[in-house]
Amino acid sequence: MTVTDPPPDALPAALTATVDLDAIAHNVGVVRAAAGADVIAVVKANGYGHGAVPVARAALAAGAVELGVAHIAEAVALRNAGLDAHITAWLHTTNASFDAAISADVDIALSSRRQLALVVDAARRLGRTATVTAKVDTGLNRSGVARDEWADFADDLAKANAGGAVHVRAIMCHLVRGDEPDHPLNSQQAERLDLAAADLARLGSPAEVMHIANSPAALTRPDLARDLVRPGIALYGCTPIPERGDFGLVPAMTLRAEVALVKKLAAGQGVSYNHQWTSDRDTVIAVVPAGYADGVPRLLSNRMRVQVNGRSFPQVGRICMDQFVIDLGPDGGGVAEGDIAELFGTGTDGAPIAREWAEEIGTIDYEIITGVGARALRQYVGREALGAETARDVAAAQR
Ligand SMILES: *Cc1c(COP(=O)(O)O)cnc(C)c1O
Repeated sequence: MTVTDPPPDALPAALTATVDLDAIAHNVGVVRAAAGADVIAVVKANGYGHGAVPVARAALAAGAVELGVAHIAEAVALRNAGLDAHITAWLHTTNASFDAAISADVDIALSSRRQLALVVDAARRLGRTATVTAKVDTGLNRSGVARDEWADFADDLAKANAGGAVHVRAIMCHLVRGDEPDHPLNSQQAERLDLAAADLARLGSPAEVMHIANSPAALTRPDLARDLVRPGIALYGCTPIPERGDFGLVPAMTLRAEVALVKKLAAGQGVSYNHQWTSDRDTVIAVVPAGYADGVPRLLSNRMRVQVNGRSFPQVGRICMDQFVIDLGPDGGGVAEGDIAELFGTGTDGAPIAREWAEEIGTIDYEIITGVGARALRQYVGREALGAETARDVAAAQR
């Protein structure tokens, strides 16, 4: 027996995250229509856990015009996968490979004069012009050029632009309260960015495009859209403002696991570590091979439900690293080993959506979907999922 036969990728997976690329495409359309602007599809963090390359392809095919990620390494990986759309990367450490970004024609969003100086050095060394975005801190006080540094940064940027080391493609900022659409800070941040853009124009290095809006703002504040919007979470079908409904978005990921074991449990017996649940009757339990290493939060122990064969069953006892237990009831609920348990999905079949988990433990669905672990095999359905190109991407993403 050799290790390559069969290839590890072809072995059956206990846990699958099925991503519906038609849902991604639909959600691009929803955001675009609401914003009245073109879409930069944000595919950082492996496409919010969905697989950056297939999601990027589906989003671009559905009309998104650019891609956005946090790290240069993420952007270069998309390039290497053959995506030739404009890609912006906006979070860099001092050891970031600006050389690699410039060589791969990645738009580098700059948050300081130090970063700009490093990019100018790299561009000169390579004999190339770096494409850059001015990332302005208009109040988030996180990344972006600090307000007290802006004037000097703008001067440096204009000089670098005039000298040919950089080309100023865009100017951007990120909202503090995008999910509170009526908060006055949203408009104030936009005004501050407009002023910064005017500074660059006055210095002779105007930005070609401006973008501000994340998902919640793209869906509710078309007046802030400017040239492009930068949605992430909405593309994956999670509403960024639950109080305002789902905006017609369709969740793209369904997380499923095969029931690994079914067995009887006598009344009075405890289940899983520290026996945090004890059955008050003779019952039947099942083991589901998904745990906190796979993104099922341990905090959900005894607080979640799972759907098998169209029926809902409570999770009982501690959620472990690799597995948890569900209580099938005295009659076993008609569940057999090999049946498929749905952990979360689209919400149309009675199973929970990711937000149900998030709300139960006081977090947001962003954390749930991005937390789905590498062990869950990503599978793609919908548009182009069966195309040779996508199949290759999927294989590459699994390696
Ligand atoms: C993550 C991110 C986005 C996308 O935010 P969503 O709330 O997921 O739409 C947009 N812009 C920046 C700078 C980000 O870091």
